[in-house]
Amino acid sequence: MFIKSIDFSKYSSIKIGPTAEVMMIERGDNIPTDRYLIGGANNLLISPTPPLLMMLSKDFSTIELYDNILTIGASTPTGKIVSYAKRHNLSGFEFFAKLPGMLGGMLAMNAGVKQYEIFNILDSVEIDGEWVDVSQIEHGYRYASLGGVATRARFVVSSGYSQSLADELKALRANQPQKPSAGSAFKNPPNDHAGRLIEAVGLKGLSIGGMQWSPMHANFLVNNGNGTYNEAIELIELAKAKVSEEFDIILKEEIRILD
Ligand SMILES: Cc1cc2nc3c(=O)[nH]c(=O)nc-3n(C[C@H](O)[C@H](O)[C@H](O)COP(=O)(O)OP(=O)(O)OC[C@H]3O[C@@H](n4cnc5c(N)ncnc54)[C@H](O)[C@@H]3O)c2cc1C
Repeated sequence: MFIKSIDFSKYSSIKIGPTAEVMMIERGDNIPTDRYLIGGANNLLISPTPPLLMMLSKDFSTIELYDNILTIGASTPTGKIVSYAKRHNLSGFEFFAKLPGMLGGMLAMNAGVKQYEIFNILDSVEIDGEWVDVSQIEHGYRYASLGGVATRARFVVSSGYSQSLADELKALRANQPQKPSAGSAFKNPPNDHAGRLIEAVGLKGLSIGGMQWSPMHANFLVNNGNGTYNEAIELIELAKAKVSEEFDIILKEEIRILD
């Protein structure tokens, strides 16, 4: 293992956070249990005083195909996975084209688009050195209880990469804000949309300092430049309070807040 200094105001997708010393885990290392594991920081809001952090190094950025079993290392970026699937004409990974992150973050979040979710195509995950069958992992909408550090995952693959599906899903991005964000701030409550609720309580487009509930998509908390952690938290708390007051619905964060 080695220490890497990472400036989260540049590395994280929402462009907020301090420069912190992150422990980089290499193959064969004992993985610490007193550090918070991050991936590509596309779903994180990091405070000025975050917990101790760690990250899987490039040692875990691997893709191996034997017969119809694809084994992918947890620090493999989604873009690399889609390129591989395309090159080898494999189906099932097209929706990765829309999702920024690394495989480990995708697994922990059960990331997905529309009806496509990573758990639908997953066979098993190597967690803390043990292979665990997907049926043994509790998971749901944007949530999976991995119970440890995922280092690799296996997928049973079949042929037939669909460029049109990848393009269709990627095109959904065009309707989303292009400014720095961490994707959807809240999960959609059952049978509703967090964006609709935020708009209904009049917060769409509201700014505090450099942070804003996007005028384009109300559930995206965007950074217009120099936005801070505290401003983001204020907007999140305001949305929760107003939606609870007016609709009696408790919004739950999809983004992970590291305080
Ligand atoms: C513009 C934009 C659009 C987005 N659109 C979508 C979307 O449509 N659908 C969607 O689902 N998401 C979306 N996201 C969110 C993001 O793409 C996903 O949550 C992605 O899976 C995050 O991956 P990451 O590597 O960046 O994880 P991080 O943000 O670094 O971490 C997320 C969580 O995963 C955990 N984690 C990371 N690696 C591991 C590991 N190896 N083992 C165990 N736990 C781990 C972390 O502890 C953390 O709790 C979007 C984000 C952005 C910025």
